[in-house]
This record gives sequence, C-alpha cells and structure tokens, in this order.
Amino acid sequence: MPDTDKTPSSSSALELKCPNCKAKVLWSEDFPHRPFCSERCKLMDFGDWASEENKIAGNSIYDDVLSDDIDEY
Ligand SMILES: [Zn+2]
Repeated sequence: MPDTDKTPSSSSALELKCPNCKAKVLWSEDFPHRPFCSERCKLMDFGDWASEENKIAGNSIYDDVLSDDIDEY
C-alpha cells in the first residue's frame, strides 16, 4: 500500500524550542499551543509580560513620589 509512504508530517514539521522551558516543539497539530510546548508555558509567558509592565508602571509612580518628597526637603 502506498499509504504507508504518506505518514503524518512528523518529519517535515518545523521544529522549535518552547520560549519558556526550551522543550522541543513541533509546528504541528500535536502542539496546539505552539510555539509553546503546553498551555502552562503559554500562560507563564503572558504572566511574565504582565508583571514586567506592572514593575515599570510601579517604578515610575514611586519615582514621582520620591522626587516630590526630596523637593519638599
Ligand atoms: Zn514549555
């Protein structure tokens, strides 16, 4: 049967590394969360982004408060 020749595209699938944990990820339907290896890694990456933004916003607020205080003295 020639069908065995057309095996599912595991060999032609693009190979990536999960940006979060560096696990091997194939660009195929086996990895619906690609380029992440799993939903957990995907969520963790978004969490990092969110906390980075919070840090930046928080810092600028603290800077404002601090410089105000220094001006008063
Ligand atoms: Zn991962």
